[in-house]
Amino acid sequence: MAGSRILCALLLLTSVSPSVAQNKPAPTSAIALIPAFVEAGSPELIRVEAPGATLVTGEWLGQKVQFFESKDMKSWFALAGVDVQTEPGTSKLKISVHMLPESAEFNRDVEIHPAHYRTGKLSVEPKFVEPGPDEQKEIAADSDIKAKVFASSAPEPLWHGDFRAPVHSPPTDSFGTRRMFNGKLASIHKGMDFRAPTGTVVRASNSGVVVLARHLYFEGNCVVIDHGFGLYTISMHFSRIGVHEGQHVEAGDPLGLSGATGRVTGPHLHWAVRWQGAYLDPAKLLRLNLSGIR
Ligand SMILES: [Zn+2]
Repeated sequence: MAGSRILCALLLLTSVSPSVAQNKPAPTSAIALIPAFVEAGSPELIRVEAPGATLVTGEWLGQKVQFFESKDMKSWFALAGVDVQTEPGTSKLKISVHMLPESAEFNRDVEIHPAHYRTGKLSVEPKFVEPGPDEQKEIAADSDIKAKVFASSAPEPLWHGDFRAPVHSPPTDSFGTRRMFNGKLASIHKGMDFRAPTGTVVRASNSGVVVLARHLYFEGNCVVIDHGFGLYTISMHFSRIGVHEGQHVEAGDPLGLSGATGRVTGPHLHWAVRWQGAYLDPAKLLRLNLSGIR
């Protein structure tokens, strides 16, 4: 039985590795990346047609890619992505389909295209560009807290359906902008800014668990939601936090009120999407159609 199931999966999948004897070309739709045009900063929904598989795992850009089975049990999906700072070029996507007692490996070349982000200049208080010894201590402590938070994502996806904007305020296309702070410190803007006046209710973009809800030096009052399998959404600069660490939230639940705490030039909501350490374009995540998958 298992043999015929394996064969069935092989016929469906592309790019069979040489270790698996199979030379029949398969439909290219068996492994699909959505969106198909992959660029630096893209979130990518990866679909593998593997009915009957017991587990699908992957590896891409040095990261473990975790798949879950779709509601209709026909496909396996992973929500992954390419960091904003990834160099353009060809990357290898490795996928393992497990069907007891065997498993098969598939490789696919994925071309990463350069994304064209802008350069901007900003003025902030000098203490945020050249922090003193006390501030440096605080920044180091914050780094430890964040490292811990991002090291232990839930072992299953916690999100359901589409991600939605955290506020109704107008978004800006500031993701990926190379920024000069006071003409000195260069950094890349790894989130999306919404023009939210102080006091705007910020809502959970999707379901998950609040894994950080506290004040940090640069981020100000910050809320991080773990959506599972290494995917997080991060909201910064709140005037008030309305959730606590460990709290489960549903899409649309209030997280707090926007503000201007931390390194800011004025009140706004900075909203970031992180997957396995990669920062992804939030606008592109909001455009992904995820309804019906889980
Ligand atoms: Zn920002």
